[in-house]
Amino acid sequence: MSTLERHHRFALAIRLIGHHTKLSIVHAATAVRLETLRRLYREIHERPPRGGPLANSVGTVAKTRGQQAHASLFARLYLARQGPVLDQAIDYLALTDAYDLYLALLPGGSRPLLPINLAWAVASDLRSGQASFSRCPRCDVQYLLMHTGSLGLRCPICALYVRA
Ligand SMILES: [Zn+2]
Repeated sequence: MSTLERHHRFALAIRLIGHHTKLSIVHAATAVRLETLRRLYREIHERPPRGGPLANSVGTVAKTRGQQAHASLFARLYLARQGPVLDQAIDYLALTDAYDLYLALLPGGSRPLLPINLAWAVASDLRSGQASFSRCPRCDVQYLLMHTGSLGLRCPICALYVRA
């Protein structure tokens, strides 16, 4: 591996760890050794990384219409950055760029409903076909249809409007 390639991988690892990305994902993204990633995490956050299972599908973890709406926004940003070809491996640089943009688009002070580990699950679901886009016939918004989990297949924007 060239020095430059090594530098790019570390730079991406640092960005991902900054968002509290699970180290198994950072390792898949960068091929940096897990032990090195653990050390990096402790240096950046001044505490060890939390364990816990990895959500392998956003539909099984997202519990609210708000989360589905945020997942839809992130999915659009990710596809805009990585291009429409979905049968390829996850583009981790596109994922990280799209996640930074997602955070930047949130109104000041509001909490991101989509942690980066769920954003990764969105990218993974788009690739595997466990999530896809649908256009709502009522509000004409394209939203993320999650084929797993219990949120069903209805438009999150219309559901949120009803409550507003
Ligand atoms: Zn709708």
